[in-house]
Amino acid sequence: ESTRELLLSRIRDVADYPKPGVMFKDITPLLADPVAFTALTDALAELCVRHGATKIVGLEARGFILAAPVAVRAGLGFIPVRKAGKLPGATLGQAYELEYGTAEIEVHAEDLSADDRVMVIDDVLATGGTAGASLELIRRAGASVAGVSVLMELGFLAGREALAPHLRGAPLEAL
Ligand code: IMP
Repeated sequence: ESTRELLLSRIRDVADYPKPGVMFKDITPLLADPVAFTALTDALAELCVRHGATKIVGLEARGFILAAPVAVRAGLGFIPVRKAGKLPGATLGQAYELEYGTAEIEVHAEDLSADDRVMVIDDVLATGGTAGASLELIRRAGASVAGVSVLMELGFLAGREALAPHLRGAPLEAL
């Protein structure tokens, strides 16, 4: 069984969640399977090494679950990018568009510097709004971007196209 098949087999489709008409991709079966979770961690860590990352950013909340073991596996530091108002220290913030309204994410300014090459990790790339905002934050903190690595990309939402101007040539990898 290939890693791709194993990972796909552990993702559950939940209809009409969180609202009618949405097919939610639920990764909790994958997290509960140590073989699949380890395979995912190893594959993401390999991408971080391949693309020369020196730090790992995880996107709240499911991105934290994946990025933390990847950081340990790759021997790199983990930096949380959180929804606005959750980090206690001095932060940089970045607003972005949602379907209705806007959202804002933040990072501790002192966590990133010009020496850092950052890989962003999340579970799902949907519209690409969250990942795009995180790349702007990383650059505004003075760091460079190693890439974005996700478990899955919802192709029909064209997140890859929306993310392209923020990636500026850095790789987007979806397992
Ligand atoms: P985007 O900003 O539209 O790309 O949304 C991505 C964010 O929404 C990620 O942080 C995901 O965790 C979450 N997300 C969107 N759709 C799903 C889904 O079907 N399953 C799990 N998370 C999702």
